[in-house]
Amino acid sequence: MSKIFPLNKQQLEALCERFPTPFYLYDENAIRINAREIQKAFSLFPNFCQHFAVKALPNPAILSILHEEGFGMDCSSLPELLLAEKSGVSGEEIMFTSNNTPSEEFRKAKELGAIINLDDITHIEFLEKSLSKEAGGASPGLPAIIAFRYNPGSLKMGNGIIGNPVEAKYGFTREQIIEGYKLLVSKGLKRFGLHTMVASNELNADYHLETGKLLFEFAVEIKQKCGIELEFVNLGGGVGIPYKPDQKPIDYHYLAQELKKLYDHILVPAGLGNVAIHTEWGRVITGPYGYLVTRAIHKKEIYRNYIGLDASMADLMRPALYGAYHYISVAGKEDDPCTETYDVVGSLCENNDKFALQRQLPKIEVGEKTGDLVIIHDVGAHGRAMGFNYNGKLRCGELLLQKDGTVLQIRRPETIDDYFATLIKTE
Ligand SMILES: *Cc1c(COP(=O)(O)O)cnc(C)c1O
Repeated sequence: MSKIFPLNKQQLEALCERFPTPFYLYDENAIRINAREIQKAFSLFPNFCQHFAVKALPNPAILSILHEEGFGMDCSSLPELLLAEKSGVSGEEIMFTSNNTPSEEFRKAKELGAIINLDDITHIEFLEKSLSKEAGGASPGLPAIIAFRYNPGSLKMGNGIIGNPVEAKYGFTREQIIEGYKLLVSKGLKRFGLHTMVASNELNADYHLETGKLLFEFAVEIKQKCGIELEFVNLGGGVGIPYKPDQKPIDYHYLAQELKKLYDHILVPAGLGNVAIHTEWGRVITGPYGYLVTRAIHKKEIYRNYIGLDASMADLMRPALYGAYHYISVAGKEDDPCTETYDVVGSLCENNDKFALQRQLPKIEVGEKTGDLVIIHDVGAHGRAMGFNYNGKLRCGELLLQKDGTVLQIRRPETIDDYFATLIKTE
């Protein structure tokens, strides 16, 4: 089975005349269709808000599109808060889920009116201090709504990628959550949320349903023990995408319908029928709709056969970092037989700078201007954003294939001047 790319070879070659490879290309139409499917599936709930995890694709052009589709943003740092602000997102559309947080970031989150999701019980006091007049808080006092990040410890196995919650640095223990809400109640707070994140790239909907059940049951217990009705539960991120061509995407409608059954069964009878469902998905929102377009410039035949691209792991780190699989296609050769076995590599002086190992591909022609265009799929989340400058590599730019078929550059490639910009000598 092959994966699709939105342009044919002729269109892509014409685009490369305007914007030399390598570059990321995002498909606006596909992003919007996917976003609408999610909104439709979750309209079952009285109140639903998906906050896009900004770290997955931190580009205001994309954030604005997602905001138009009704999504809020999930931020974890000051620059991410500023990106949300720049994209026209404000107030409680922003969820601030950070950890080990500096006080400056709490001040900015409060200034924007974001929902602050605390990672630890000691952060209640830290937040109060951070927002105080002495610390430079523009509007002292706790925000009207506060959420806690719950770490279920041994009550829930994390999935393979995220690991065992007992070993995870995130969140409050169960006892601390109860104590924390009681403390907030004693300080006069009236609005509360509950959050957890126990999965990463998980394609099994039932795993996410278990997380929902865990949170719903805890919400009931919190009501009994603390006398509060949560305003929302946030299931976190971690919905997977089918990187491999034989995998199936998650069925949003199944997930929403089954979650609604749990909701009706657990929350409604406990008088919690107004609880909103929040998510903070990143990967599944933009991942499949981003492509890294590169050109094959060198071929070498030693103990193995290598195809050298004009991109490197500085542009896309996932294969080197996690051994992640990314589907690769060759423009114009989508239907050619895969007669060759290649390692597809970048130019970094790191032997793990390889986009694919021993991959079956059609015969690839190489050359700086004339080589085949090689497309790396499913890089629309945690792709360009994870890039870095090791080896003096300059990260590539980002293009948006707009609804009307025209292409807009939404981030220029880095230049040597960018690289030297921080090299300032100071006494
Ligand atoms: C990374 C992250 C997300 C998004 O995860 P995806 O796997 O991209 O859905 C959501 N919430 C938090 C707190 C995160 O750290």
